[in-house]
Order: sequence, then structure tokens, then C-alpha cells
Amino acid sequence: MRLFDRFHKNQEASAPAPAADAIFCSTRGGDRVTAMEAVLRGMAPDGGLYVEPGIASRPFDVKACLALSPLQQAEKILAHLLPGFPDMGALVRRAYEGRFASPALTPLVPVGDQYVLELFHGPTAAFKDVALCMLPQLMTAARTRTGAAEKTVILTATSGDTGKAALEGFHDVPGTGIVVFFPHQGVSSVQEAQMLTQKGSNVAVCAVRGNFDDCQSAVKQVFSAYAGTCPVPGVRLSSANSINIGRLAPQVVYYFLAYADLMNRGRIQYGDPVDYVVPTGNFGDILAGWYAKQIGLPVGRLVCASNANRVLTDFLTTGLYDRRRTFYKTSSPSMDILVSSNLERLLYYAEGCDAALVRNDMLRLQNSGYYKISVGVLDRIREDFSAYACSEEETLAAIRRCFAETGYLPDTHTAVALHAAEEYRRAESDGAPLVVLSTASPFKFPEAVLTALGEVPAGDAFAQMEQLARLTKLAAPAALSSLQGLPVLHKDVIDRADIADYVKAKLPQL
Ligand SMILES: *Cc1c(COP(=O)(O)O)cnc(C)c1O
Repeated sequence: MRLFDRFHKNQEASAPAPAADAIFCSTRGGDRVTAMEAVLRGMAPDGGLYVEPGIASRPFDVKACLALSPLQQAEKILAHLLPGFPDMGALVRRAYEGRFASPALTPLVPVGDQYVLELFHGPTAAFKDVALCMLPQLMTAARTRTGAAEKTVILTATSGDTGKAALEGFHDVPGTGIVVFFPHQGVSSVQEAQMLTQKGSNVAVCAVRGNFDDCQSAVKQVFSAYAGTCPVPGVRLSSANSINIGRLAPQVVYYFLAYADLMNRGRIQYGDPVDYVVPTGNFGDILAGWYAKQIGLPVGRLVCASNANRVLTDFLTTGLYDRRRTFYKTSSPSMDILVSSNLERLLYYAEGCDAALVRNDMLRLQNSGYYKISVGVLDRIREDFSAYACSEEETLAAIRRCFAETGYLPDTHTAVALHAAEEYRRAESDGAPLVVLSTASPFKFPEAVLTALGEVPAGDAFAQMEQLARLTKLAAPAALSSLQGLPVLHKDVIDRADIADYVKAKLPQL
């Protein structure tokens, strides 16, 4: 009953003493909440993201964790990062058991003299599956434990892969609904087919005329406008984007899995640094690597790989974050992003957990389109991060070269990272083992991959998948090839200005 009171009667008015496990606060202000509350809310009411200021100071037995099975590692890491959830082991097993093609979850593949960490063997062939299989489990457990009476409706902006993975995770989950917005003509045709054919009684999928940043900022505005109170009674909005800490935490796990794998192969001993190269868009994936380092994993450098939308490369080099630039549609669309949400979390820590500083930076970004951090803060960030960008020509060249030289076929996003890895090795590497995160199957972007290999893509996306399979003698993931011929169930296309109204109209139907 006290729990119910605390979470649902009058959160602001009576302000009871915070529970001992209320360890999360907003990047932009003070209210402390538990992990469960942070997961249920998705985003803080002040527009900030939930962070744990003391994340690096709570002890975690990394060495013992690395000796466990993949699912046990996931349990330990998630229970540490998100304290208070009852029986994390059961949640982890429900999320992953039988749903990933490999018992390793995210297999590590030697390619040349480096390693590729394949994150795309989940139910929608997206790296987002790692987090989005877990998030509904966390939300359902939090709803049950806190006695939540409202329905939780997930609002999500997607650059392509989050949408499908979230739909797969949340469709027909009791007590939840989901609305997905994606940029009209801004995702690959395979990604579009994945979303438009989604079944489920509690789902809505809608194309928005604009790019991903337009979708994301409009969805964030809906959150801010409806913070605390939703116009439809009995509904609470939440997020499945990586602004939700429950989405970020499961991604910390595969940094451990890769490290444990390198130990098991005898490639490293416990304590040796490993460098990770991460194809980056919203800065969630790479931030998860930084979190792994904060809780003690011996991560060396984190190499941020960007495509032609190189706003993060410039920021991590100069300290100036400037979104006032041309937006490019590239062959790695999930990284076509100019406003990287999760950077706010890194800023918070780098600026000494000073919410006022972060609030200023974010206001300036919103109002003027840029902000600049001090030299000291940039130096602190550069102790952990390097950054490289990859042009369109370099992306296609990286695919062609990798396949010719090693027989390994990367997708366009992975190719951006492979290019960055090469630059990093030339310029900075001290020889530590290099793990390149692979975020998509090449069969999700068959047109670009075929072009890279010097072929002329023919027919629709499914014909191109077959063409790629014939050429490379590889098989397309069943999650993709099985979409062919499924009926299109979602046809809405709207302007970004209409997103709030669309949400309001859809909520009662979900
Ligand atoms: C989402 C995504 C990324 C970028 O990940 P962030 O966490 O947004 O940085 C890269 N590649 C693919 C294929 C993705 O779907």
C-alpha cells in the first residue's frame, strides 16, 4: 500500500523520504526515483534523462561475473544497474531464452586480426532486440510491483530498427500499447516492410514526413507536454528509445560477453584492456560501453564511428556540438542523426554531475542549435573516447574490401565501424584487441551491399536479398525473408506537426 501511495497518489505533494534504492535522478534536475520508476517513466518530467550519479562507486565483482554463462552475466549486470527488480534471473530468461539464434546471444567472430561482435541474431534481426526483448519484461515487472493501474503506452521514434524491435517486444503484452513513428522514405524497404506488416491489437505504426530528428524531437515534445498527466485518463506514456535507462542497461551486457569470450579464447587475461569500435547514431550503444567501464570492465578506448552525419566526430574532436548543418540520407540510415540523445548522459558525468550545466547546454542546443563544452570537460571525455567519420564512398569501399580480404560480409553500419577501426589503428591504437560492434545483417540493406560488391541490384528488396544470397553463398535471416508477401497493415502518413494529435487520437484505441 505504501508503494502504491508513493508512486500513484500524489508524487509531488507529500514527498515522502526517498527510498534507499531511489538512486536515479534526471540529468537536468534533482528528483530521485527508483530504477523501476525510471523505467516506467522513460524520460524525466523536466525533459532530462535518468542517470545514477554514483554509478562508479557501488562495488561490482566483474571478474566473478565474467566467469558466468551469458544469461547469468546478463542477470548479474542488470540486477546491479537496475536494483530493486524482483528475480532479475527470471526476467532475463523470459526475455532471451529461445529467442536468439545463438546461445552466445551475441557471438564474437574473428575477422582478419580483429573481432566482430554480431548483435543482430534476435527475433527481428536487429541489434535493438538485445535491449527490446528485455524492456517489456522490466516494464511488466515494474508495473506489477508498483501496483500501476494505468496502461503504459510506448511512444517511439525510430531510425529504422528500434520500431520493429519494439513492436515485436510489446505487441499484445497486457497492460501496454505502442505507437511507432518513422521517417517517411527514410528507412530501408526491408525495415519498412518489417514495421508495416506488424500484427497486434495494441500497436500503431505511422510514417512522418521529415527525418529521424524531426520524429524524435516531436515525440520528446509530446512527452514534455504530457509529463505526469496524459490527456487520456488511465494511460501513462513511456519510451522504448535509448533515452529509457531500461533500454540502455541491457546493452551493457554484450561488452562483458565479448570480453569474456576473448578471455576464454586465451586472447587476453583478466585486466587487459580491450578497445571497442561502435557505429553510432543516438549514442546509446557506445554509452553502454562507457557504463560497462564505469562498473569496472577493463574497457580500453571507445571509438565512436559516424557516417557522413559526423556531428559526433566533430564534437568529440573540438568540443563544439553543432547541429546547424546539412542532413545527409546515407546508406547507413540508422545513424542518420544530428541530435544524439544519449550524449546528454555522458555530458552529465563529464560536467561533474552538474545538472544546471547540462540544462544550459540542452537549452542552447534547442534554441540556438549548438553548444560548446570547456576544454577540461572535453579532455575528460577524450580520456575514454576517440571518433572517426566515414563518407558514403568509404562505407561501400569498406564492405568491398572486407569481403574480398576476409570473406566476411558486413552491413553498411558495420562497414562504417570497420572504416573507423582502420583509421583508429593507423592513428592511435596501442595494439589492444579490437572489437567492432556489428549492428545489422547485410541482408537488411541488400541494395547498398550489392552496389558495394559491384553488382547491379535488381527487383524489390526481397529479390535483392536472394541476389545477395546467390552471390555470397550466405543465407538471409529467416526474420527478414519470411516477410515477403505479408499484408501491409499500417498506412498512415502524417506531418510532424500532427504527431501530438495523432497520439491523442490513437491512445483510446490501443
Ligand atoms: C540504432 C542503430 C545504430 C546506432 O545505435 P545508437 O545506439 O543509436 O548509437 C547503428 N546501427 C544500427 C543498424 C542501428 O539500428
